[in-house]
Amino acid sequence: MATVAGVAVEPGHWIGGERAASGAVFTDVSPIDERPIAEIARGGPAEVDAAVAAARRAFPAWARTGRDERARLLHAIADGVEKRTEELSQVETADNGALIRSHRRGVMPRVAHNFRFFADRLLGLGHDDFDTRGHANHVGWDPAGVCALITPWNAPLMLATWKIAPALAAGNTVVLKPAEWTPLTASLLAGIAAEAGLPDGVFNVVQGYGAEVGGPLTAHPDVRRISFTGSVPTARLIAAAAAPNLTPLSLELGGKSPLLVFADADLDLAVDLAVEQYDNAGQVCLAGTRLLVESSVADEFTARFVEKASRLRQGDPRDESTDVGPLIHRRHLERVDGFVRRAEEAGARALIGGGPNGELGGLYYRPTLFTGAPDGAEILTEEVFGPVLTLQTFDTEEQAVAMANGTRFGLAATLATGDPERARRVTERLVAGTVWVNCFFVRDLRAPFGGSRQSGVGRGGGDWSFDFYCDLKNTVTAP
Ligand code: NAD
Repeated sequence: MATVAGVAVEPGHWIGGERAASGAVFTDVSPIDERPIAEIARGGPAEVDAAVAAARRAFPAWARTGRDERARLLHAIADGVEKRTEELSQVETADNGALIRSHRRGVMPRVAHNFRFFADRLLGLGHDDFDTRGHANHVGWDPAGVCALITPWNAPLMLATWKIAPALAAGNTVVLKPAEWTPLTASLLAGIAAEAGLPDGVFNVVQGYGAEVGGPLTAHPDVRRISFTGSVPTARLIAAAAAPNLTPLSLELGGKSPLLVFADADLDLAVDLAVEQYDNAGQVCLAGTRLLVESSVADEFTARFVEKASRLRQGDPRDESTDVGPLIHRRHLERVDGFVRRAEEAGARALIGGGPNGELGGLYYRPTLFTGAPDGAEILTEEVFGPVLTLQTFDTEEQAVAMANGTRFGLAATLATGDPERARRVTERLVAGTVWVNCFFVRDLRAPFGGSRQSGVGRGGGDWSFDFYCDLKNTVTAP
């Protein structure tokens, strides 16, 4: 048993309703101070086989469990999450370095909501019956079977439960592989689910590295769905692993989203929206990291942005007054810094930031804004996944749209404009799964969520999640 932030956390896997160790362990390091906080079981193909087998055994009974009972259990899990919000927040902050205040007030309430939303949605699912020349069509939402869920480190429990809740609600059983940099809250969730009364084997967790656990899990012939959130290169490996079994995939991937500021925008609002892109130290898939600003207001926007961004307080994420915490891991800091160095070599100039925070040391990287990056520069086209924004200017709406759509991604876009007609015109032409007009990060689970182009395949949210996690079956009955 490990103790993290005063909370006891089981370091083993969770398979068939029991904790399981492995022959090997890996060290979990806190990004706050780069100290080791736990030794976690390091799974491999044997643990994957055991977890998939447990999930397979549990599937028939869980699939037959009535919707009311499944919904009741999901609400009981949400109750458990709410009861342990503080513990979950403390452990998540120790594990991934995101702000404690976000975990307490935003993330953990949303984790509970993920369960409640899909529990309630399940009860209203499927009113598609219709009549064909007197024959009754009935559309059934059959659960697909064992679902493999693979998640990243930037919002571990939030992103995992966004998949777990609809998968379980639909009557599937689950094997979750959390990111190796943030294994802890998945382990706590297993305990909460067991306490809530979820039957053994319905939810399983295998800890470990991507290639050692994720590889065999995504290639497993008994897995009926793979839902992945993470990077494009890993998505390609997963698609290849899934190909021999033709396992259906949901892919929620990276982005290089634009934030467009038109001259008719409320500039205070535009600046607030732009500075918000440093949330979670920029480690947010949806972040609008490319600031595209109309030339006539660019100087004023830039001056106000620099002034406001310079007031962000960087420091220990456990401190409620901190605005920007550390990056997740030394390897990630080196990756982010590599992008920054190459941007400078390509001729871009950092107006703020441009390197690690020398006073704080460790994994604290200063919020950075680049201007003057030449067309086609890597910093304008590749996802950095750190607190690094670029600023470019445009003169016409046409040019703004072309720049906004000018990457291989299409996850999100944000617009600041005072003209609703312009907002409509521009939105229609943007390639993005989500467009925010004069706001950012307003999320409703009834809305479709996902990415276009290389930002993803498929949509979650609303009934779209059930669409993915179910095998739809139409039954036609003669009169
Ligand atoms: P990653 O692709 O490196 O890892 C994600 C997960 O995949 C981890 O659990 C990892 O262990 C696992 N994995 C690695 N290799 C694997 C393999 N061969 N087979 C199966 N699984 C494997 O991504 P990351 O660095 O953890 O996360 C950051 C990325 O996630 C960014 O690109 C970000 O934009 C994206 N992201 C997207 C969304 C979204 O909703 N679209 C949300 C959050 C993060």
